[in-house]
Amino acid sequence: MMKTKKLYEDPYLKSHGAKVMGFHESGALILDETIFFPQGGGQLADEGFIQGHPVLDVKEEGEFILHYIESTEDLYLGKEVELQIDWDNRFHNMQQHTGEHILSGLAQSIHGAYNVGFHIGKDMMRVDYDKELSWEQLEDLERKANEAISQNVSIVSFYPRPTVLESLPYRSKKILEGDIRVVEVKGYDLCTCCGTHVRLSGEVGLLKILSRENYKGGVRLGVLCGFKALEYFDRLTKQSMQMSHLLCAPVLELYPALEQIFEDREKIRRLSVEKDEELIALKLEKEDGKKDLLIFEKTLKGKSLKNYVLALSHDREGLLAVFSPEEEGYSFLLISSGEDISILGKKLLKDYGGKGGGRGVNFQGWIPAKEDNQEERERIRTWFKTFTQQ
Ligand SMILES: [Zn+2]
Repeated sequence: MMKTKKLYEDPYLKSHGAKVMGFHESGALILDETIFFPQGGGQLADEGFIQGHPVLDVKEEGEFILHYIESTEDLYLGKEVELQIDWDNRFHNMQQHTGEHILSGLAQSIHGAYNVGFHIGKDMMRVDYDKELSWEQLEDLERKANEAISQNVSIVSFYPRPTVLESLPYRSKKILEGDIRVVEVKGYDLCTCCGTHVRLSGEVGLLKILSRENYKGGVRLGVLCGFKALEYFDRLTKQSMQMSHLLCAPVLELYPALEQIFEDREKIRRLSVEKDEELIALKLEKEDGKKDLLIFEKTLKGKSLKNYVLALSHDREGLLAVFSPEEEGYSFLLISSGEDISILGKKLLKDYGGKGGGRGVNFQGWIPAKEDNQEERERIRTWFKTFTQQ
């Protein structure tokens, strides 16, 4: 069998006629020629249609390009088929891929930072460098990359003879064999690559670095180019407008507005702690001197409730039972000054169908109730009277 002719060397070919040359053992379609780029070199496979069938995946295996399509039922050896790639998707990939060449060429020539990882995802392009680059250095690189884009320099690819290749100062991600394709962004980058790229750097439109994290002694960047960058910016803008409306602040002053809200929230929290402390003091005064104590506490929550219970149980003789209304029930805490409380706790859970546990002088749990009202509270009081002297 002949090998598949790769027509994606001309990345602007959107549709093409080809002939069915065979079927791979996996069921994949093999054609004499193809415009579908297979996954590889950090770039995802092309999407599109072959004779109306959606293309699910495209892979390269040896001399052949394998096309995985939904059904090959109406296809047979020698049949002429129409290939159609999803051009928007392809062009997005070309924009990302070319942008990466420009950025990586600059990172290497200016900072000696080598590109060691690259992946064009659906939402974001990931680019890894083997050297730590600060956000300031990245801003400078981003600026220079966009200058390269605005200069509209040409991008060409060629297959140099081995002797010529040896003399070229190209970037390479791995040791390659066979015909080696070199992609040149004039004045900015020279790199071995099998992917699809735009013809002129201006077509990249825009390059924006969106995230930076330390990664294996270097950095991992999230980058977007062209229409993908525009889409991202559009989402950011819409979100900023919503936040601006919510915070009653101009879009470019959202951060100080948010800081103010956090400051105010902290003030309110501190005030609420003070109020709770006052309330606890008043409540303690009221409950002073009583032996067994059954309390329904609705106002105090969380840490304040804990502090209140701690203060109540301090130096207390007898039983302390604190019930806190919750949705569809009460959470409770039983504390005794000496006796084992678990028998009483377990009886409460059994009689009310609740859940919880404890041992020794502490027992906590939850019992169901339709709502928190006087009737429910009275029922619980009566239950306790049966077992205590209260
Ligand atoms: Zn490339």
